[in-house]
Amino acid sequence: MYKKISLDDKEIEELINLENQRLEDHVELIASENYVSEDVMKANGSCLTNKYAEGYPNKRYYGGCEYVDKIEEIAQERAKKLFNVKYANVQPYSGSVANAAVYMAMVDPGDKVLGLDLNSGGHLSHGYKISFSGKFYEAHTYSVNDEGVLDYDKILEIAKEVKPKMIICGYSAYSQIVDFAKFRKICDEVGAKLFADISHISGLIIAGLHPSPSGYADVIMTTTHKTLRGTRGAIILTNDEEIFKRVNSAVFPGVQGGPLFHQIAAKAVSFREALQPEFIDYQKQLLLNSKIMCQTFLNKGVKIISGLTQNHLFMIDVKTSYGITGKYATEVLGRVNITVNKNTIPNDSEKPTVASGIRIGSAAMTSRGLKEDEFIILANLIDKVLRDPENENLLYVVKKEIAKLTNSFPIKRSHLVR
Ligand SMILES: *Cc1c(COP(=O)(O)O)cnc(C)c1O
Repeated sequence: MYKKISLDDKEIEELINLENQRLEDHVELIASENYVSEDVMKANGSCLTNKYAEGYPNKRYYGGCEYVDKIEEIAQERAKKLFNVKYANVQPYSGSVANAAVYMAMVDPGDKVLGLDLNSGGHLSHGYKISFSGKFYEAHTYSVNDEGVLDYDKILEIAKEVKPKMIICGYSAYSQIVDFAKFRKICDEVGAKLFADISHISGLIIAGLHPSPSGYADVIMTTTHKTLRGTRGAIILTNDEEIFKRVNSAVFPGVQGGPLFHQIAAKAVSFREALQPEFIDYQKQLLLNSKIMCQTFLNKGVKIISGLTQNHLFMIDVKTSYGITGKYATEVLGRVNITVNKNTIPNDSEKPTVASGIRIGSAAMTSRGLKEDEFIILANLIDKVLRDPENENLLYVVKKEIAKLTNSFPIKRSHLVR
């Protein structure tokens, strides 16, 4: 368990400690969450939060930047090494803000962009109508096919018709391998730039368990808090010097003000962790766990979107499989201390706030040390609950099983073997 904290402000202290206990007691299966090390939290909670340093290392608008310059440079160097790229901007506050900067760097307002639609597993910032990306740009979408898989011939067909200036690949709820080489070919055929948003799969890419977009995409963005297991935030990567310059101006002063140095230092700390051999072992285990859990559901006849997962996450069609909505499934699993999120599925008949699916990810619980055996147990418990969600006695028994599991696998304060 993470250390309890003590503040003069007892109101906030209590809530933080309650959240700490909730993290400890719950099985965390939200695919975009993870448990960072206490070193990452220490950097995040450091004095660096005081510092203003608009600009970039050695080109600041403020004095007193000698130490934060070094911190930002170290973060950049580590990011470049992790992803095998020439340039890295480590300032983005979050994935969505980073994406806003990428758009600003790559296309003009009103230009056509092409991304996966939200129901198929895309992200809000890939052109959804109520996000900046759908409001300020002419957003077009491609979808997955009836099997829930990307159809590259169909994407090419749409791209030829739309003629977008930029195509976005990389997703929030897609469990199959993304073929960046094929996307590159499509972009070359229609004269579009390729933007790879690898927020979810960046950890797997670092470990060589998913192909890398480096060498194919013009620009790459990843959040730092999903499989990468760092602080909340994002980075933008490229191999093209001209694009890098435009990205830098788009991040600051385009969409952001002063960089958050406590966050940048925490990113650097997590990048160092990700450069260690333990991180590769972690990614291998996370993939084994996700696959065996998914296979356990498949063996029971449960409908998984796009079949056996190839990454850390998969989506269950709970409507078809159990006759319940994603919203209800999330609530009932919450009652036994299992945290998941509802998610729309391709061609969903429910609105996003209800949804017909749930998304499950293995990144966080793998960080607690769970292996294949425990993920099979989890799949069995979840299946039992979703088959019989009104059986109070069952819920009581499952909650006790979950408590046993969370007690046996406390949150680790460090991910490095010392
Ligand atoms: C999570 C995610 C984002 C956005 O990240 P935030 O930090 O929540 O803004 C962007 N793109 C994809 C594909 C994501 O999964």
